[in-house]
Amino acid sequence: MKRLVILGGGESGIGTALLGKEKGYDVFVSDKGAIKEKYKQVLIHNEIEWEDEKHSEDKILNADVVMKSPGIPDKVSLVKQIRDKGILVVSEIEFASKFAQATVVGITGSNGKTTTASLTHHILKQELNVGLAGNIGDSFAKQVLEEDYDNYVLEISSFQLDDIIDFKPHIAIITNITPDHLDRYDYQFEKYIASKFRIAMNQTKADYLIYDADDEVIDEYLKKHPVQSTLLPFSLTKRIENGAYLEDNYIKITINNNQIIMPTTKLTLEGKHNIKNAMAASTVSHLLKIRKQTIRESLENFQGVEHRLEHVLKINKVQYINDSKATNVNATYYALESMDAPTVWIVGGEDKGNNYEELFAFVNEKVKAIICLGEDNEKLMQTFGGMVDIIVETQFMSEAVKIAYKISEAGDSVLLSPACASFDLFENYEDRGRQFKNAVRNL
Ligand code: ADP
Repeated sequence: MKRLVILGGGESGIGTALLGKEKGYDVFVSDKGAIKEKYKQVLIHNEIEWEDEKHSEDKILNADVVMKSPGIPDKVSLVKQIRDKGILVVSEIEFASKFAQATVVGITGSNGKTTTASLTHHILKQELNVGLAGNIGDSFAKQVLEEDYDNYVLEISSFQLDDIIDFKPHIAIITNITPDHLDRYDYQFEKYIASKFRIAMNQTKADYLIYDADDEVIDEYLKKHPVQSTLLPFSLTKRIENGAYLEDNYIKITINNNQIIMPTTKLTLEGKHNIKNAMAASTVSHLLKIRKQTIRESLENFQGVEHRLEHVLKINKVQYINDSKATNVNATYYALESMDAPTVWIVGGEDKGNNYEELFAFVNEKVKAIICLGEDNEKLMQTFGGMVDIIVETQFMSEAVKIAYKISEAGDSVLLSPACASFDLFENYEDRGRQFKNAVRNL
């Protein structure tokens, strides 16, 4: 019996444990932190051995294969020891895809993964038997075990890609690449880019890579490191023969001379970035032979994803927008770009070495007031102090929203788009977004 050790007892860890057990592995789950009660119950109920708040090396270093949660960095000494012993280390998608006889759509990128994955799933599910997994909802491994879909749309982080070996999505998407998570890549952007491109490393000519052709980082990398995959780029700025482009407010997608045309005016999602996401999702759908009418209709009725430019409420003709998921500058760039009303902007949190320069033009043009919401707001106050008439700071969401309410006038928008991580004041970005929505509802 092969021994499968799982490091990390979260959603992907528990799913992998269940799948591993079903497939005949001797499974052990170990988590340095506390495992959530609901997951403990699943492990106990399924008679899977586990431990938490420690790693017992004697029960780990005898593994044949280790599934490491994407949250655990390679520099951790236990992981080094595992690798030094020559034990195979894989990610959940690597492990689970071996047991899935399915067509896999893998979506990675710095921003837009969840939106593009959700939208793709939303279209495909109209006509296909398809699961949505990866960093979203129930783990991929659990769905492989319990649902066994014919198709999967997977949202895949670079950390998941770092530990793949044979994983090969039939269709891969790279939404864009901007600096993020560099602490896990020795602060070398090149390494992070290479990690994203691992999504295509096992692809052949029979597989597809869909990517943003306007993204210089992607473009440059592809020139230097050609891939085997059939390329289907999308662009807002140039005509694309095979792939997707924008012309006079129409998205045009051509694959093997078969074209689909869709008006962007009917998209429910706002902003240029969402036109790109729609292009990527529609390209997948067109490839998988979803009817054109179905694709058009699905784009028109997709409701978006929570915490991504989510319209919360209109109060006194002021629109409140929750973009809490904007945890880096690039995401906030697209949020500000999509604003067409004078904006009261709530920004701040844990700064990951941000360079705010690319936001200056939008701030000058659209932002009437800034509310800094972080434990330490010094850098924001310094950076934007001279650019707007009103700039204030607070450590409380309720206060931030109350100030926004006071400052704003009919026709304005209040935008929470922090450009920073949330961990200084909140549990995570979801908590931040929910606190924002509650505060708005309590106005
Ligand atoms: P991810 O899953 O990659 O973090 P999300 O879909 O959750 O991406 O979106 C994260 C943030 O990025 C949100 O603020 C969203 O509005 C913004 N965003 C969505 N799509 C794009 C895109 N294609 N380019 C840049 N920013 C985007």
